[in-house]
Amino acid sequence: MNDRSQRHKRSMEKLKAHVDEKVANAQEQRGLLLIFTGNGKGKTTAAWGTVTRALGYGYRVGVVQFIKGLWDCGERDRLESDPNLEVSIMATGFTWETQNRETDTAACQAVWQDAARMLADESVYLVVLDEITYMLKFGYLDFETLRQALVNRPKEQTVIITGRNAHRELLEMADTVTEMQEVRHAFNAGIQARRGIDY
Ligand code: ATP
Ligand code: MG
Repeated sequence: MNDRSQRHKRSMEKLKAHVDEKVANAQEQRGLLLIFTGNGKGKTTAAWGTVTRALGYGYRVGVVQFIKGLWDCGERDRLESDPNLEVSIMATGFTWETQNRETDTAACQAVWQDAARMLADESVYLVVLDEITYMLKFGYLDFETLRQALVNRPKEQTVIITGRNAHRELLEMADTVTEMQEVRHAFNAGIQARRGIDY
């Protein structure tokens, strides 16, 4: 074996020991709370990717879309015929389009009832609360209501929350937090959101 191959072998042995140790240390089994936040693109895409992953194993999944419910969504169109998927959509569009606090709050509360039901149902393996961070920010949903529902959810249930400006206490509760960092976004160069790519 030449020098380079030997060095490679040594570094792979080290890596294996490191990974083995981490695997051995991960003993706990339970559902997770994941948050995909930050200004970069990819939060909702990552959530739907995980939905697809869970459906692939035959698990039941609930997706609740806050705010952007009236938007087209390719993943939803593709997956909604799966009997294991339930999608609940907020019946109002963009809040800066409706500009009506009362109707937005009512729409949020209505869709929250579906979310609360999913969060109490142990047959639902994964619940996605897409863009729910804005509901807290605008005061359409109070944090304590969400916190209680998350704390009391079934032990095996995983929840994914997406949206910018995630509540500080929510971030502290989460097992996994990923912040999508915007390095660049095409929109800022005047390029339109693209069908099948951005929605
Ligand atoms: P995606 O749905 O593509 O995963 P996202 O969930 O991370 O995006 P949102 O803030 O929910 O981001 O934005 C929804 C829409 O805005 C999508 O069409 C997305 O491509 C686009 N978008 C995401 N990030 C940015 C950005 N930094 N500037 C402009 N548009 C953005
Ligand atoms: Mg999104």
